[in-house]
Amino acid sequence: MAEFELKKYDEVPIGGVVTGGATPELNETGDWRSNRPIFDEDKCIQCLLCWSHCPDASFYIEDEEVQGIDYDHCKGCGICAEICPVDAITMVPEGEDSEDE
Ligand code: SF4
Ligand code: SF4
Repeated sequence: MAEFELKKYDEVPIGGVVTGGATPELNETGDWRSNRPIFDEDKCIQCLLCWSHCPDASFYIEDEEVQGIDYDHCKGCGICAEICPVDAITMVPEGEDSEDE
């Protein structure tokens, strides 16, 4: 987990606006998630549709192939599971799968 000091309520910008660029690494948004995407490497055909559609850039890519999911930032929207043409991603309720980040 990134090290940063939590602000008090009266120090947070109105509306919770992110006022600086390049701050996502400091804000681990994965704990908002209620459903978790589970990636099945054996089914994956590496089309990268999940990577290109993920609104949180939460796919680890190496050598142009999906390696896994960044659970520190994935918010569990389910877009990747919907877009995957071979059902290589399954959404499960958070806490029901032992796969960990
Ligand atoms: S569930 Fe949403 S945020 Fe998480 S990896 Fe899939 S598309 Fe990205
Ligand atoms: S959309 Fe599905 S098949 Fe395509 S890279 Fe992602 S997990 Fe693999």
